[in-house]
Amino acid sequence: MLKDVYTLADLRNWTQVTADATPPLRLAVFGDPIAHSKSPQMLNAALEKCGIEACYIRLQIMPEELPEALRLLSPAGFIGVNLTIPHKQAALSLLDEVDGHAQKIGAVNTVAIGEGKLSGYNTDGPGLVRAIRSEFGVDIRDLRVMVLGAGGGAGRAISVQCAIEGCERLVLVNRTVEKAQALAREIEPYFKGPHLGGPVARLESLPLESAQLKFQLQNTDLVINATSMGMKLSDPSPLPASILLPHLMVFDTIYTAARTPLLRAADEAGARGVNGFSMLLHQGALAFEIWFNREAPVEVMRAALPGNA
Ligand code: NAP
Repeated sequence: MLKDVYTLADLRNWTQVTADATPPLRLAVFGDPIAHSKSPQMLNAALEKCGIEACYIRLQIMPEELPEALRLLSPAGFIGVNLTIPHKQAALSLLDEVDGHAQKIGAVNTVAIGEGKLSGYNTDGPGLVRAIRSEFGVDIRDLRVMVLGAGGGAGRAISVQCAIEGCERLVLVNRTVEKAQALAREIEPYFKGPHLGGPVARLESLPLESAQLKFQLQNTDLVINATSMGMKLSDPSPLPASILLPHLMVFDTIYTAARTPLLRAADEAGARGVNGFSMLLHQGALAFEIWFNREAPVEVMRAALPGNA
């Protein structure tokens, strides 16, 4: 009988704890908290569809447990793991190698294990690119993007990805504006190339409470919410409906509700809005592709997600 959540104590005795498990438990997501994670439903559907003899489970790992938990993976026969809050940045210095893209983003969300070596990747940014393409039928590189929560982990990954894609313009917004300003300095070199000019700068950083946001939204195509505002349905929207405009595409990375507070505000303003299910789906599909070097059955994974992506 599978447990909903395993712990480091289980991982220390993996052979005994999982002796009866068929197929063997060889993939996991590490996080704290982790009980809410929807990755097992999505990835186990993909493994079954592809006839891969492995099961994906949740592992509750505290921050101080991460080094030992990572060391135990290879002897326990793991193929790979995903990392979520609070491990994405901490893992950077604990792996044998980290690919260039994850280094630029400054976070790892996927670890592949081969020949005793742990290799780190980041599929959050590329997952977002695929999600925007599939939900809105557009490419980030053609868009003027505003990222809310650019100073957080997901917001940073998304902002750096937008810069790498060469988006037309990027407005970094964060409650603690110093974090957005520091990120803007870091990614400035991406915005020096030849692009169509206009009345506004290609790269800006602003506080979330700025009176300038209304003007900035007139020069934006896509708003991405990467703040945690909206995880609770009683939260206020990070932007009020009164400053949102009908031409905007609004992507909320939060996937705990079909219509988050920001998406309800987008509805009120006549803008198109989509929640974060498709980002979850595509970052998971990309992780599967890293582990198995084959295309992921995206539609099977989508159908397996509660509420569907
Ligand atoms: P994080 O590192 O803790 O960052 C949280 C961000 O939210 C920071 O920018 C923070 O601003 C801001 N924030 C928090 N409370 C706020 C408030 N009351 N008012 C204004 N801003 C506030 O968290 P994270 O890992 O980046 O996750 C952020 C969100 O992304 C979560 O909702 C998560 O569900 C979502 N996410 C979705 C996916 C997906 O696949 N769909 C993947 C990853 C993350 P300060 O810097 O000022 O504190």
